[in-house]
Amino acid sequence: MVKLVNFKWQQLILSLSCLLLIIACQSLYPATNPDAKPLKVATDPTFVPFEFQTADGKLKGFDIDLMNALASPAASIAKVAGFAVQFESLPFDGMISTLQAKRVDAAISGITITAERLKTIAFSRPYFKAGLAIAVREDNQNIKDFNSLKGKKIAVQIGSTGADFAKTIPNAKISTFNSGPEFFQDLLNGNVDAVISDAFATLYAIKNGKFKGIRVVADLLTEEYYGIATPKDSPHLDAINKGIAALLSNGTYKQIYQKWFDAEPPQLPDS
Ligand code: GLN
Repeated sequence: MVKLVNFKWQQLILSLSCLLLIIACQSLYPATNPDAKPLKVATDPTFVPFEFQTADGKLKGFDIDLMNALASPAASIAKVAGFAVQFESLPFDGMISTLQAKRVDAAISGITITAERLKTIAFSRPYFKAGLAIAVREDNQNIKDFNSLKGKKIAVQIGSTGADFAKTIPNAKISTFNSGPEFFQDLLNGNVDAVISDAFATLYAIKNGKFKGIRVVADLLTEEYYGIATPKDSPHLDAINKGIAALLSNGTYKQIYQKWFDAEPPQLPDS
């Protein structure tokens, strides 16, 4: 009888310890919870250095690092965000409608937060300070600012803020392209006079020697902020925002920024 009681106590303690261990593991690594569905995140990997593919097909870039950090238990964000990320490559032009149709949970692709886009989708808090720049051939001295773009041949990416901006230039002849590398080639070939696109991506492409012969006009045309986009009323937006706040305050954001841009990150607004 006594033996039996002892045995039950041992069993109870053992079961309780197991239970505690399981709870502890799950709160540390909720992403490994088999019930937690991975977050489907769209990206267009043609936007160096934010998202691009290496020769062996691996996704890399500032946005990819940021998204992975949001989901990483090592950054202790998982407790807040608690999701595993599954990237899906999509053309930039179709991203907003894909989010609207809720075919993905989120998108990270250097997407500028605009009033127009906010009518149909939602955005996280800003995670990157950006802006549009004019790129010209090195020998071009006449294009210096907005006014000198009037009546010129201009290349832009379909569906981008650069394309929207180009529409405001009087008498400009606009050609549209699916992705960045194509329009820079067109500029080099002399088919267009200027490209209007995101300054950081343009400067990075030039600095890394891929587009020798192109320079960026000094003054930026706009100030923009990138956000992680989600469908409206997304159940994940709050966790994403908390995750970004945590990465900003624990130094991870700064580390990722320095890795890709070799500079101190600027101050970001909360919303
Ligand atoms: N930031 C620009 C936009 O949102 C372009 C982004 C991109 O080409 N990936 O329209």
